[in-house]
Amino acid sequence: MANVILLFHRDLRLRDHAALKNASDTGHSIIPLYIHDNTIPEENREGGASLWWLNHSLSELDRALRQRGSRLILRKGSRLTELERIVAETHAEAVFISRRYAPWEERQDQEIAQRLSVPYRRFRGYLLFEPEDVKTKSGTPFRVFTPFFKACLALGSPFPADNTVPEIAAPSTWPVSEELRDWCLLPSKPDWSGGISSSWNPGEAGALERLDAFRSVVDRYDEDRDRPDREGTSRLSPHLHFGEISPRACWLEFSSESGLGGRNAFLRELIWREFSYHLLAQFPDMAQIPLQKKFLKFPWRVDHQNLTAWQRGRTGYPIIDAGMRQLWKTGWMHNRVRMIVASFLIKHLLIGWQNGQNWFWDTLVDADPANNAASWQWVAGCGADAAPFFRIFNPMTQGAKFDPNGNYVREWVPEISQLPAKFIHEPWLAPPEILARTNIRLGDSYPWPIVDHKLARQRALDTLNRIKGE
Ligand code: FAD
Repeated sequence: MANVILLFHRDLRLRDHAALKNASDTGHSIIPLYIHDNTIPEENREGGASLWWLNHSLSELDRALRQRGSRLILRKGSRLTELERIVAETHAEAVFISRRYAPWEERQDQEIAQRLSVPYRRFRGYLLFEPEDVKTKSGTPFRVFTPFFKACLALGSPFPADNTVPEIAAPSTWPVSEELRDWCLLPSKPDWSGGISSSWNPGEAGALERLDAFRSVVDRYDEDRDRPDREGTSRLSPHLHFGEISPRACWLEFSSESGLGGRNAFLRELIWREFSYHLLAQFPDMAQIPLQKKFLKFPWRVDHQNLTAWQRGRTGYPIIDAGMRQLWKTGWMHNRVRMIVASFLIKHLLIGWQNGQNWFWDTLVDADPANNAASWQWVAGCGADAAPFFRIFNPMTQGAKFDPNGNYVREWVPEISQLPAKFIHEPWLAPPEILARTNIRLGDSYPWPIVDHKLARQRALDTLNRIKGE
C-alpha cells in the first residue's frame, strides 16, 4: 500500500481533524509525524511552560495512536529538510497538514508547498472562521471587535464537528523515530514543573475531560467568569492552543438556540481568540510593535528590581502577587487577574508591555502568539479596539470586587491568609494589633507596596499626556 504523511503541529488530536480524515480517505497507510523545528528564530520558539506541555501532549498523542495500531514518528530539524528526508525514505505520495496561521508559519508552509516534491495539502481546523473570510463591507479586515463578532455570527454556525476517529492504517515498515526524552523539553535543574503537573492533563483525553467538567458550570459563565476565586471558566486555553480540541467542537458543544447568557458569553470569548488571529494576520509584528504608532515613543522605564518583584509576586499588592504566583506555580492565570497584573506592570510601574508579554510567553502553558500579543496590546491601550491607556485598574478595588472574600489571595499568598477580608487586599491598612495577631511583618514576611497607587497612577497619566502633546 502507498504511504502518505500526516504532519502534526498544533493539532495534537485525532478527533475533528480534517487533515487526518482526508489522509485516511486516500485509503493509503498513514505515517504520523511531528517535526520539532529547531531552526526557527528564537522569538518564535516555545517558552519553558509550553515545552513542558508539548512534551506531554506528544507522548499522549503517541499513546492514542498506538491504541489504534499506529505511532508517532519524531524528527528534529528544519521542517522542509526533515520532510524531504522522510518523503524520500518512505516514498510517501503526499503530506497532509492543518493550516497554520502565524504569518511566519504561513510563509514557511507556502515555501514548503513550492519546494516539496509531493503535494503538501493544507486543511482547516485551528480556527472557526478563516481570517480572509471575515471582512468589512468594504472588503478590509476588521480592527474593532464588536462588528467582527457580528460578522462571524452572520457567517453561520461552523460545520458539525466530526468526533469519530478515522481509520489510521499503519505502513508496512516504520521509518526511524527520535526519542522524545532526547529532545529535553522538560525542565531538569531545577525542575519547576511540579505545580504544573498537578494542575493539568495535556492531550486530547485531558481536553475532553475539561470540556466535560465545564458543562456543569457553563450556564453560570457570564456571572462567574470574572471571579478568580471560583472555577468559573473552562481552562481549555492550553488544549485549544495545542489543538488537542478543535474550537469547532467547543462551539458546537455550547452553542444554544435559547441564547442562554453563560453559553453565549463563552462563544464570544472563542471569537476573541479568532479576533486575535485576525489581527496577527494583519500585523505580523504585533508581538514587538504597538499597533498605535504614537506608543512607539512612550518613555518606558527600565527597572529590573520592579520587574523582578512583579515576576516573583512580591509587589506588596495582594491581587497582583496572587496572580503572578498562580502563573508561576500552575502555568495559568485567571483572565481577570491577567488584566490586572498587566495593567499594573504597564501603568503603575511604567515597564514596557513587551517585558510582560515575554514573561507570560515563558511561563504560560497557553502562551499563544496571537492571544498573548493582542491581549498585552489591549491592556496597554496601544492595540486594536484597546482599553484606553488612561483606564488604570486599581488593584484594591479590583480585588474587593472580584475576590470579595479574599479567597483567591488566601490561596496564593499564604503569608497573609489570616487577615480579615476587610484588609486582605490592602494589608498596610490593617491595625498593628491585627498584623501582630496574624503574624504579618510588613517589609519582612510580606512586602510593603513597591509603588504608591495614587502617585503611580498620576505618573502614568502625566507620561501619557507628554506623548500626546509631542
Ligand atoms: P475561558 O474564559 O473559558 O474562554 C474560552 C476560550 O476562549 C479560552 O480558552 C481562549 O481560547 C479564548 N479566550 C478567552 N478569553 C480570551 C481573550 N481575552 N482573548 C482571546 N481569547 C480568549 N489567552 C491565550 O490563550 N494565550 C495567551 O497567551 C494569552 N495571554 C493573555 C495575556 C493577557 C495580558 C491577557 C489579559 C489575556 C491573555 N489571554 C491569553 C486571554 C485569556 O486570559 C485566556 O484565554 C483565558 O484566561 C484562558 O482561560 P480559559 O480557557 O478558562 O478561558
